Amino acid sequence: MSAVLIDGKQVAARIRGEVAEAIQNEGISPHLAVILVGDDPASQIYVRNKARACRDCGMRSTVLRMGADTTQNELEAAIDRLNEDKDVDGLMVQLPLPRGLDAQTALSRIRPEKDVDGLHTVNAGHLFKGEKGIRCCTPAGCMELLRRYVGEDLTGKNAVVIGRSNIVGKPMAAMLLEANCTVTVCHSKTRDIADICRRADILVCAVGKSRFVTADMVKEGAAVIDVGMNRDENGKLTGDVDFEAAREKAGYITPVPGGVGPMTIAMLMKNTLEAARNAGKS
Ligand code: NAP
Repeated sequence: MSAVLIDGKQVAARIRGEVAEAIQNEGISPHLAVILVGDDPASQIYVRNKARACRDCGMRSTVLRMGADTTQNELEAAIDRLNEDKDVDGLMVQLPLPRGLDAQTALSRIRPEKDVDGLHTVNAGHLFKGEKGIRCCTPAGCMELLRRYVGEDLTGKNAVVIGRSNIVGKPMAAMLLEANCTVTVCHSKTRDIADICRRADILVCAVGKSRFVTADMVKEGAAVIDVGMNRDENGKLTGDVDFEAAREKAGYITPVPGGVGPMTIAMLMKNTLEAARNAGKS
């Protein structure tokens, strides 16, 4: 039987609606600032989508565009200025940065309370210690999808995460652990990855390789969350999962596009609202 399709677009629209309603009801006006360095075409689209999402939610946004020849000092000075600006509640730097700029240093320059991407070491630390803090958007979006489709209580489920990046794999594993799952993290040095995946009730794929996960790696009835956003040999947008084959075995599956992608922006809106509330704006 074909899997239930996890409709990230619909869930994201609902969350953005909830954010818009809260902004109206509470009479606050959160403000997101995005720093965009260089002219990476995909980043331009992502930033435009974020600005549009802000507008739709009744939130203000500012995009600070900086040239591809920006130095680390100039970038950090811009972050400092926006850190100091009391009118700005959420601040993020669009990744990837042009060659020669150090993303981790830049991200750690953002004040943790304005770090609405949840990538600052302090917020990562809060997550790993199970403390309150801003949760990183993409894995938080995946958790939201799992809770809304698979169930509020994920206790005891075997979860496998493929990928160990700081922006997806590691925080994803921490969030699943926080939800009482038994978590295994796979990476490029993992042996017998197919065997490990076949034991997963929840399989999260964040590899960055088109159709890396084949149907034989999916347990019957599993929830498959595909974070990947890749272009295949024909230039088509694909995930990390061989969707058409895997959907015949999975119980739940996210499509690409329309699965995790829209959730990332919805969680950014939610985090920015929360940052404005925490700044005492409501
Ligand atoms: P990344 O930093 O390149 O990390 C990829 C991970 O996959 C690494 O941990 C790597 O292992 C692992 N890996 C690579 N080849 C492997 C293999 N053959 N077997 C097992 N593991 C392997 O990528 P990322 O930033 O986490 O992003 C992953 C994907 O998600 C990309 O397609 C990206 O575009 C997408 N993404 C989507 C969203 C969204 O909003 N939908 C947000 C962020 C990212 P090692 O650590 O050993 O190298």
